[in-house]
Amino acid sequence: MKYTMTEISHFSHPDHKLMLENSELLFKCEGCKEEVGIGFRYRCPECDFDLHVYRAVPAPNIDHPFYTKCSFQFLSSPPGDGLHTSAADMKYTEAEISHFSHPDH
Ligand SMILES: [Zn+2]
Ligand SMILES: [Zn+2]
Repeated sequence: MKYTMTEISHFSHPDHKLMLENSELLFKCEGCKEEVGIGFRYRCPECDFDLHVYRAVPAPNIDHPFYTKCSFQFLSSPPGDGLHTSAADMKYTEAEISHFSHPDH
């Protein structure tokens, strides 16, 4: 893995910039609290604050499945007597809706 950002701002430590460091010394990640890491970390030298690189910079190729689909579909049967399963219901099941949980689209 290649890390190109050597200096970042992170919401978990907004007062200072965090520097990319590669060290053989163990560090305690402030994001995980208990975990101990070694190697690359983002570090604030002033505060002795360390963060796993993967915590500070999310991998760019991870797509949250929730956001890949911008239109939701009804998967369950519409309310009714359940007898009309033809054209009307097809139309209903393919309708696009806006949903409060995904208001952007
Ligand atoms: Zn961590
Ligand atoms: Zn700091």
